[in-house]
Amino acid sequence: MIRRLFTFCLLSFLACSGITAFAQTQRFHVLAFYSTKVEQDHVDFALQAIPFFQAMAKRDHFDFTATSNWNDMNPDTLKQYQVVLWLDDAPSTPAQRAAFQNYMEHGGGWLGFHIAGWMDSREMWPWFADFLGTVFSGNSWPPLPATLTIDDPASPIVKGLPRSYLSPANEWYSWKPDPRNTLGIKVLMTLAPSNYPIGFKDTLIGGDIPVTWTNTKYKMIYTNMGHGNKILTSPAQNRFFENALLWLGGRRQ
Ligand code: ZN
Repeated sequence: MIRRLFTFCLLSFLACSGITAFAQTQRFHVLAFYSTKVEQDHVDFALQAIPFFQAMAKRDHFDFTATSNWNDMNPDTLKQYQVVLWLDDAPSTPAQRAAFQNYMEHGGGWLGFHIAGWMDSREMWPWFADFLGTVFSGNSWPPLPATLTIDDPASPIVKGLPRSYLSPANEWYSWKPDPRNTLGIKVLMTLAPSNYPIGFKDTLIGGDIPVTWTNTKYKMIYTNMGHGNKILTSPAQNRFFENALLWLGGRRQ
């Protein structure tokens, strides 16, 4: 009996590790949305991000597709993908927004960059304000590098990053309310106090300004980086982008 029990335990263990190994290597499908008719600095980032993620897809064995047709944000298309990226824009029609909401409410993954989190006011799209956990409040100008501190070094999303690093030139946003105080939001990176004041024409003078977070009610990551052609020049930051995508694709627990 004991021997049988042992065999059963061993087989269960092997079955479970098999499943884990499968999840670690299973191909997932990523669809990146971008626009070419938005602010040039945002287009610059998107057009660099596409080959960056294509190379990552090859290295990490997932499928990556980019589209500038935001009407691909529809149920039939979205169901073919496990992760959606917004590189430099956001959906603008009620149908696109409804498709995205439904996708996220049924386990879809999302990585949003910079302008993806921008809204003039909560009224623009109240569901998205709750999803993001906050609304855009202000910005710094011109784009400048900034020191970011890692809030939770144990998170698989920031694994392998130094406790703080210099993020390349970016336009930084502030938020209202502070997403750190929103129920369900877990902040991953924050502008270090040493940066303040940051900006000349537009200045962020201080306070708590998170730059990367996840809403734990969804499979999502928002990051404020994504303005201009310097974003992908930091190995530490690039590691974060890779961690983030692999985590959303189910490869990091
Ligand atoms: Zn910008």
